[in-house]
Amino acid sequence: LPKRFVEMLHDTKAIPDCNVNQLSHAQIDALHDYVHNWQIKPNGTEGYRTAEVTLGGVDTDELSSKTFEAKKSPGLYFIGEVTDVTGWLGGYNFQYAWSCGFAAGQYC
Ligand SMILES: Cc1cc2nc3c(=O)[nH]c(=O)nc-3n(C[C@H](O)[C@H](O)[C@H](O)COP(=O)(O)OP(=O)(O)OC[C@H]3O[C@@H](n4cnc5c(N)ncnc54)[C@H](O)[C@@H]3O)c2cc1C
Repeated sequence: LPKRFVEMLHDTKAIPDCNVNQLSHAQIDALHDYVHNWQIKPNGTEGYRTAEVTLGGVDTDELSSKTFEAKKSPGLYFIGEVTDVTGWLGGYNFQYAWSCGFAAGQYC
C-alpha cells in the first residue's frame, strides 16, 4: 500500500501499532473490511468555475432521437450540452455533442 495511505490507516487507528506478522486473523479481517468498504464523503465541490458538464436542459422526449429536431417545432434543432444528457467524464460528452451534431446536420 502507498506509504501515505498506511500512515492514514495508522493515524485513524484502523491498523494496530505492530508488525504485520503480529496481526491476529480478526485484525486482518477488520483491516480487510475497512479497506474494501472504504467510504468517501466529499466535503464540497469547486462550483460552477470548474464544472465540466451540466445537468438539465432540453427534454430529450421533446426531440427526435434520429434528427434532434424539436417535435413541436419543425425546423428547430437542439444538440449537445443544451440537451438534458449528461455523460460521464472521459469523452462521452464530446462524443455525444459531435454525434448528435452530425446527425442533426444531416437533416437541418
Ligand atoms: C473544463 C471542461 C472540461 C471538459 N472536459 C471534457 C472531457 O474531457 N470529455 C468530455 O467528453 N467532455 C468534456 N467537457 C464537456 C464538453 O466540453 C461539452 O459537453 C461539449 O463541449 C458540449 O459541446 P456543445 O457543442 O454542445 O457546447 P459548447 O462546446 O459549449 O459550444 C457552444 C458554443 O455556442 C457558443 N454560443 C453560446 N451562445 C451563443 C450565441 N448566443 N450565439 C452564438 N454562439 C453562441 C459558445 O461560444 C460555444 O462556442 C468539458 C467541459 C469543460 C467546461
